[in-house]
Amino acid sequence: MFLNEECPICLERFEESCFVCELFCRHTYHLNCLEEWLHERPACPLCQKEIKISLESSYDYEEEMMGDGRLKVTINLVTNASSN
Ligand SMILES: [Zn+2]
Ligand SMILES: [Zn+2]
Repeated sequence: MFLNEECPICLERFEESCFVCELFCRHTYHLNCLEEWLHERPACPLCQKEIKISLESSYDYEEEMMGDGRLKVTINLVTNASSN
């Protein structure tokens, strides 16, 4: 179960077989919406937690098919200690 059942960016409900992305803070977005958002601002739109991923480089993520046909994408944040 997701924390939110609609995308806070475009305000549309998650449909079957759409790509949804769950962040480490458990907030969930369309993958496309989140990528666009992260170009503007590297933080979760809801809780403002900083998101340290680079969309230019590849990042680790897991894909998981949900029971209702949605594809859940979980981004594994790679924390880079030296960048601090
Ligand atoms: Zn969306
Ligand atoms: Zn969040």
